[in-house]
Amino acid sequence: MGRGRSTSCSAAGMCCASASALSHYSILKGAALLGIGTDNVHLVRTDERGKMIPEELEKEIQRVKAEGSEPLFVCATSGTTVLGAFDPLDAIADICARHGLWLHVDAAWGGSALLSPQLRHLLAGIHRADSVTWNPHKLLMVGLQCSAFLLRDSSGLLQRCHGVGASYLFQRDKFYDVSLDTGDKSPQCGRRADGLKLWILWKAVGTRGLGRRVERAFAATRYLLEQVKRREGFQLVMEPEFINLCFWFIPPSLRGQDSSPEFWDKLGKVAPAIKEKMIRRGSMMVGYQPHGSRVNFFRQIITNPVVTRQDLDFFLDEIQELGWDL
Ligand SMILES: *Cc1c(COP(=O)(O)O)cnc(C)c1O
Repeated sequence: MGRGRSTSCSAAGMCCASASALSHYSILKGAALLGIGTDNVHLVRTDERGKMIPEELEKEIQRVKAEGSEPLFVCATSGTTVLGAFDPLDAIADICARHGLWLHVDAAWGGSALLSPQLRHLLAGIHRADSVTWNPHKLLMVGLQCSAFLLRDSSGLLQRCHGVGASYLFQRDKFYDVSLDTGDKSPQCGRRADGLKLWILWKAVGTRGLGRRVERAFAATRYLLEQVKRREGFQLVMEPEFINLCFWFIPPSLRGQDSSPEFWDKLGKVAPAIKEKMIRRGSMMVGYQPHGSRVNFFRQIITNPVVTRQDLDFFLDEIQELGWDL
């Protein structure tokens, strides 16, 4: 499987998928596992905020068709992993409808925003998707793992795709509607009842309570954003649209030099050095990454509802202290 190896499907030039250049790596992995092949995944350009550009998607579809391939599937992302960008779903859905393509929305990260009346506009158009993924184990803090795959189809597609009807397990001669049985619809046999964890949390806190979790996380990011703007030496990568706050810490030794070519090179070494120090000290563990042409920056996401403003102040103080002498 993977690059270079083709199945009857991709060998015939029939399948291909489009995803934004910032889509999750699972799209490539899925294409490899399914035998579509990673070469048949076409990444569509994004704008400066990390959103898929619909005109670029249209161009990519035209280009792939002109090469004799038949596009199949488009993956839009609602909440990209690093920047927290939301693709324009309505415009993408229009293109999919025009070309008869399956629209999948990867809302693994951002899907929980639907629970907040304030934030659900970020996913406007998601009702037009053919399928959606949503991970309640991320923003809602349901115990790992709890990943939902939602399908518009109600004709038993999963049963037709995955069902093998092992008669010792999946008896049809039951007293209730056997279409409710999920056992034969999934690729795995043994697996946990992950949906139960979401159901219990939902029962316990209600839809409003789930929405408040999302809004609390959003408020924590707004607070951190204000502080980052007020503090000297902290520089935003961009204004956050969602809960991902991406920023650099610029140590005093590098301040005021951002026009020099060595500046970015040196700055790219700062976040890894601070992360090493925080781990050695045992105080925090905060992720960093480069992104396109941007050198390593911190990405802070607060989902834990018990995190306080003092904790957030500590977080910034600690970065400042650990990075001061770099
Ligand atoms: C986390 C994430 C995934 C991966 O989800 P898993 O359920 O862990 O495989 C996919 N897409 C996006 C956008 C994510 O943030």
